Amino acid sequence: MKTEEKRPSADGAKTQKDYNTFRPYSMSRLLEYERCPQRFMFKYLRHLPEIQDNAGFQGQVIHEAIAKALRGENWEDALAELAFDDIQDAKYKVLTALKYSKNLGNIVGIETKFAILDNGTITDFGDPDGFLRGIIDLLVEDPNGGLMIWDWKTGHSKPTKFQVFLYAWAVQKALNRRVSKVGYILLSSSEILDFEVSKEELEITERKLNKLVSALENDKDFRATPGGHCAYCSYVGMCPLVSLIEAKDIPTVRSDDEASEIAKKIKVLEEKLKKYEDALKGYVEETETGKVKIDNNMWYGIKYSDVVKLSKTADLNSMYKDLWNQVEDPTRFFKVENKVLQEKFPENFSVSKRKSFGFMEGGNENDN
Ligand code: SF4
Repeated sequence: MKTEEKRPSADGAKTQKDYNTFRPYSMSRLLEYERCPQRFMFKYLRHLPEIQDNAGFQGQVIHEAIAKALRGENWEDALAELAFDDIQDAKYKVLTALKYSKNLGNIVGIETKFAILDNGTITDFGDPDGFLRGIIDLLVEDPNGGLMIWDWKTGHSKPTKFQVFLYAWAVQKALNRRVSKVGYILLSSSEILDFEVSKEELEITERKLNKLVSALENDKDFRATPGGHCAYCSYVGMCPLVSLIEAKDIPTVRSDDEASEIAKKIKVLEEKLKKYEDALKGYVEETETGKVKIDNNMWYGIKYSDVVKLSKTADLNSMYKDLWNQVEDPTRFFKVENKVLQEKFPENFSVSKRKSFGFMEGGNENDN
């Protein structure tokens, strides 16, 4: 599958060294390329840093804790790296993984790292000449001597079958051992998603792999392919299609998976927004003026508004009676508003100031 000539890329002519930066292939590299070649180029050719979101970090920590738990090690400490509010949910996911793993069969591998060369023989995981590599979360022996490959999924989105079939294809090729079943254990919903492995599906997997690798290795321009995934792209500011993406008002929702991803993103952003607001309020409170300028006509700061309260000892009935006695023409309809009561009987009301934070036009603290 590997060809030796130099390949051009979005940066111009590439050397063999550049070409080797694609390898070894992994599921995340292949999926990244399939989703958007431009993003792949930013990440794996230009090695630009990527922002890891909270869900990604949580997933990593939970995987680590599950592996420790399955090895009989102290796993709860691993979860302490998470935000306090996320620990309980993460613990539940680890316990779910343990519960399922007991019933799957004889465990023969936990977080098993594998790598194969182009000819399918096993090599070191760190071998730069490796063709494909991955980490199998759980490798289990079935009663007939076959292998089963399981992958933990900590998020909510439905995973692609391609990943587990690709691992099955690699394991079968490297070990010359039958893989009977592959699947995901969805820790958010406590569900199992499993698939029987047939010769036909492994052939489909190999064709798909070859097609992706060939497209990647012969790619000359690494085109940007916008879609819902742009919502999670760390490189959107550098994307040549950024205006198109904005015009399209991406993220778009085109499937249940995308909808679920966007909903999760909103949740994370809401939490972030709350933290930003708290930090901003704290800062504003420390300023002398109680506000900060946003632009020539807009400020953000402390606002005070009047809160009128009826005193606990006030007698509403006697107020209404007094008011009635003051009416000059009792045949005319009139409406008693709180404002009228407050004007006529100010001794029965107290006024206090309520503090809040918000945006103000022109810096006028009475703006709402
Ligand atoms: S913003 Fe979208 S189209 Fe542009 S690089 Fe990122 S994923 Fe690709």
